[in-house]
Amino acid sequence: MSRDGTIAIIGAGIAGAAAARRLYEAGRRVTVLDKGRAPGGRMATRRGPDGLRFDHGAQYFTARDPRFIARVDDWTARGVAAPWGGADRHIGTPGMAAPVRDLLDGLDVRCGRAVGRLVRDGRDWRLAEADGTALSDGAAFSAVLLTCPSPQSLALLDGAGQALPGLAEVAYAACWTLMLAHDGPPLPGGPFREDRDPTAAIAWIAGNGDKPGRDGSGTIVAHASPAWSRANLECGADDVAERLATALRAIVPLGEIRHRAAHRWRYAAVERAVGEACLFAPDAGLGFAGDGCLGPRVEFAYLSGLALAERVLAEAA
Ligand SMILES: Cc1cc2nc3c(=O)[nH]c(=O)nc-3n(C[C@H](O)[C@H](O)[C@H](O)COP(=O)(O)OP(=O)(O)OC[C@H]3O[C@@H](n4cnc5c(N)ncnc54)[C@H](O)[C@@H]3O)c2cc1C
Repeated sequence: MSRDGTIAIIGAGIAGAAAARRLYEAGRRVTVLDKGRAPGGRMATRRGPDGLRFDHGAQYFTARDPRFIARVDDWTARGVAAPWGGADRHIGTPGMAAPVRDLLDGLDVRCGRAVGRLVRDGRDWRLAEADGTALSDGAAFSAVLLTCPSPQSLALLDGAGQALPGLAEVAYAACWTLMLAHDGPPLPGGPFREDRDPTAAIAWIAGNGDKPGRDGSGTIVAHASPAWSRANLECGADDVAERLATALRAIVPLGEIRHRAAHRWRYAAVERAVGEACLFAPDAGLGFAGDGCLGPRVEFAYLSGLALAERVLAEAA
């Protein structure tokens, strides 16, 4: 791995953003690519009709490690995050992706770029779409840091004839998310219901509109349980939205439904993590970070991205 080349980071979620910010602050050149329309990954806020907005991925994050606490304190002081619902819960403001965007501020970030291939070029890497079209104007990268969920990272590594030991062991639970707006009474602030019964259709319910920085409307986000999500993984989104809305009505008083939609997260929550802060193969110039390393939390993904950046910097020291 050359010590002064540009580093490509695939994935603009919290892990990729944490790695990118740390490397940038240490004077390294980074390019971040994400297949989505905007940074954030699973820290996401989706727009519905009539200005409705739903935090349809991560609902909140906690902060227990001093490094992440310092980051969250800074975000809170600058209005990028706010406490929500007590018990060390924080959210991005005005949307969940705000902290990720803040970390990436001023960096070279390219969204709408789905990396399909890693192409070895001497000691460097070049990136291409699945059909072989060059990405980043064919630029050469001294290292590639993968921060997409492990199945997507593995596919890229396999295609390049590479491997990172431990990565294949990571397993994720899927999650169907219901986004609903209705004319009934708003739910009380904070998480309304967390149900650990594995047979329940709905595992989590929260009023979305009352979160700090949101629009105050009667919007609700409900996550289906891992078991229900797995059993209905390949069902259509409209059908899932209808059935989850029916299940929700049995739990909370709903008025007339103005909007309902469902989103499928194929890789939502890590069920089995690597158990190391990150994976790094300096000779190949390849690394992996994300919640797949330490577990299913925003904070763990942030710390994993930070750890990978530190490994890269230590290698270059
Ligand atoms: C429904 C749901 C609820 C959750 N609730 C909570 C919660 O309450 N609290 C909590 O702490 N955590 C929660 N989480 C987990 C949390 O969101 C994740 O742990 C964290 O956001 C993972 O960050 P990451 O950077 O590792 O991955 P991601 O956020 O998934 O980022 C990976 C990025 O890689 C991009 N990508 C993938 N493939 C490619 C490719 N080929 N080319 C380019 N880009 C690519 C994706 O577009 C994505 O932006 C929840 C997650 C979900 C889905």
